[in-house]
Amino acid sequence: MIPLSVPNLSGNEWKYIKDCLDTNWVSSVGSYVDRFENSLVEFTGAKYAVSTVNGSAALHISMLLAGVEQDDHVILPNITFVASANTVTYLKASPIFIDIDPDTWQMDLDLLENYLNTETEIINDQCRSKKDGRIIRCIMPVHVLGNMCDMERLMKIANKFYLKVVEDATESLGSYFNKKHSGTFGDFGCVSFNGNKIITTGGGGMILTNDESLAKKAKHITTQAKSDPFEYVHDEIGYNYRLVNILAAMGLAQMEQLKGFLDHKNKLYNVYIEKLKNVPGFKTQKISEHVLPNHWLQTFQFERAVELMKYLNELKIQVRPFWVPMNQLSMFKQQPYISKNDNSSKIYHTCVSLPCSTNLNEEDQLKVIDAILSFYKK
Ligand SMILES: *Cc1c(COP(=O)(O)O)cnc(C)c1O
Repeated sequence: MIPLSVPNLSGNEWKYIKDCLDTNWVSSVGSYVDRFENSLVEFTGAKYAVSTVNGSAALHISMLLAGVEQDDHVILPNITFVASANTVTYLKASPIFIDIDPDTWQMDLDLLENYLNTETEIINDQCRSKKDGRIIRCIMPVHVLGNMCDMERLMKIANKFYLKVVEDATESLGSYFNKKHSGTFGDFGCVSFNGNKIITTGGGGMILTNDESLAKKAKHITTQAKSDPFEYVHDEIGYNYRLVNILAAMGLAQMEQLKGFLDHKNKLYNVYIEKLKNVPGFKTQKISEHVLPNHWLQTFQFERAVELMKYLNELKIQVRPFWVPMNQLSMFKQQPYISKNDNSSKIYHTCVSLPCSTNLNEEDQLKVIDAILSFYKK
């Protein structure tokens, strides 16, 4: 089988994890946690990085610290992985979904701006929905597939409307806008190290921030909010959201290989584009101006996408559809969906994600390409 996107563990993973086992530092304390966090600070240019048990936990805590409360709204794109929207509800807030740009597949900033201009009002430096009077506290751009929207424009809009910004950068480690790393524009940026992401710790996440006090709060609240080094005194409700030392050790080994992974992703992407450009309906995600993407997951539009997926999966080439748009999921059907042309739905019905692991070799990639070409010859 040729898998979609699997871990590539060809560096120091064994060595560092063995070090944890040999020294008995396997759990919540140990030097690899700090080293892994520092490696993200170094790579992304964020001032602070706080590791978490997964990307969802990073989003949850970031929104909590951004001040999202019960009955607030959080704005996010309608095309994303469900975790972005789920974590909003963990705070008893509710999402407002903005349709995507049909070319870049990121949140449509024209729609966003128009919505904020016409459907909200500013009262006492807070943005409120005219419809239900609730506060829109926060906006969550999701850097879908490693592309990004115009982050400078988004930050301007957010400032104008008093919105906190939590970037869902779970898919965009190694992506830049104007040479600035994703996840370092907003109040917080959240990274994921799930098994299918560009680097993995099995499961893991990271909160990026440039604010020292927010970084300290994030560390505190993800480690049970213990306020005394000896006694069990806790000064607020905390969470057990820390990343354990074993996994941080794996993460550090993965970070050492990230540059090579990015090169490989880029190479695979260019081969797909070159060889598939004449296939019926073939279209790529348009990379936004000023964005250097990580090409994490390689998703393209095709004619007869559903049939193509069936054909490839039968040949043991693992391919996947795009996520069902958030407004179509049963638990979010009642939430506002701001759209003119429902681009989300069109993209969803035509997109196929192709195998693009960082250890996918040339021969296997050509098998995938040949299979696609033969499907359209039939
Ligand atoms: C992977 C992902 C997450 C969640 O990360 P986990 O580490 O799996 O919790 C959130 N949002 C998006 C867009 C993702 O792709």
